[in-house]
Amino acid sequence: MKILVINSGSSSLKFTLFEMENETRLAHGMAERIGQSGSSFHFTANGGGSHTIEVENLNYRTSLALVIKYLLDPKFGVIKDIAEISAVGHRIVHGGEHVSAPIVLDSKTKSIIKECFELAPLHNPPNLQGIVAAEDIMPGVPQIGVFDTAFFQSIPQHAFLYAIPYEMYKRDAVRRYGFHGTSHKYVSIKASGFLDEPKEFQKIITCHLGNGCSISAIKGGKPLDTSMGLTPLEGLVMGTRCGDIDPAIVVYLMNEEHLSSEEIYEILNKKSGLLGISGLTSDFRDILNEADKGNKRALLALRIFSYRLKKYIGSYYTVLGGLDALVFTAGIGEHSAHLRADVCNKLECIGISIDSEANRNSECVISDSKSKVKVLVIPTNEELMIARDTLAVVQAQ
Ligand code: AMP
Repeated sequence: MKILVINSGSSSLKFTLFEMENETRLAHGMAERIGQSGSSFHFTANGGGSHTIEVENLNYRTSLALVIKYLLDPKFGVIKDIAEISAVGHRIVHGGEHVSAPIVLDSKTKSIIKECFELAPLHNPPNLQGIVAAEDIMPGVPQIGVFDTAFFQSIPQHAFLYAIPYEMYKRDAVRRYGFHGTSHKYVSIKASGFLDEPKEFQKIITCHLGNGCSISAIKGGKPLDTSMGLTPLEGLVMGTRCGDIDPAIVVYLMNEEHLSSEEIYEILNKKSGLLGISGLTSDFRDILNEADKGNKRALLALRIFSYRLKKYIGSYYTVLGGLDALVFTAGIGEHSAHLRADVCNKLECIGISIDSEANRNSECVISDSKSKVKVLVIPTNEELMIARDTLAVVQAQ
């Protein structure tokens, strides 16, 4: 069975076609600069090489039409008939409190996505446009939504509520939702296979460290807490996002620096984090290079980044009442031995001990034989998780 995974973002549409029998990727690519000048389309097929074309004024519909055209191409395509695609899995960012599992996209679920426009103004509208384009171009093919927020709907109320007037939760839906759910779910399932404890007792902390960073505490496969909140701004230090701050800073800075709400929002989302502290870059590799050269602000950015992460790991250790596995994933988590060593070497107090050679080589298991906690490096694969979830919904129908 073949499943097409679509991730339609604010200016791009990424796609992957999977053969689910052996979970292989048959083709993938993306349309870039959608709705802008200079848009382009990239397509890579297994055994068919890579192709790039410049197309003016791509929109979601014309982008998806290109995906299908290239998938069907007699020379380098990977299918002969559109009917070979059994279902389309869409990445959707926000489902609010309405969605706790992958779900068929019908008029009811599409109105849920619309209801959540306010909560995810940059993501949900293009997500919906991708669905409409797919329904139009592939009528009759089941469309399934896999929501970033769904995995975290099992978080208990005492962890998802903020200590602000309760009416604001009821009236304005202000609560912790969590993001990167598909990634946390994928790596926690994979980590589960490395543990001897029965699944229902397994205690896992997953660290998704990329441009955006989040951490989750997962017990028996269900999250108990996660660091991102109402929006992806809360929690860990990120490339350009501040993560946790005293909320009074917002009002204080608006007054002191005469900032509008848009300006302060922009500063906290786009000019803070590694970029804000270092004054140089949001890119972790560049921060490491600058720190190596002795740049003090880059060193400070690294220290703050890993201190915040350690603080969260410690607090989630207590949330879980112990720990069986600590997982690192995404760009920084998968590739930075420096960061993993810096964090783990200070966590001996909770039974963590890593093998420096295994860590340097980014092996899958980097804890040593005396570590009480398995420390794992697991490459995330959100597309495959969406394809698996899509398959499960289709097969259950
Ligand atoms: P992602 O959002 O998952 O693509 O991750 C992007 C982040 O991963 C950027 O900050 C990159 O600098 C960082 N990254 C990628 N490769 C490496 C590497 N080899 N060492 C350190 N950081 C890396």
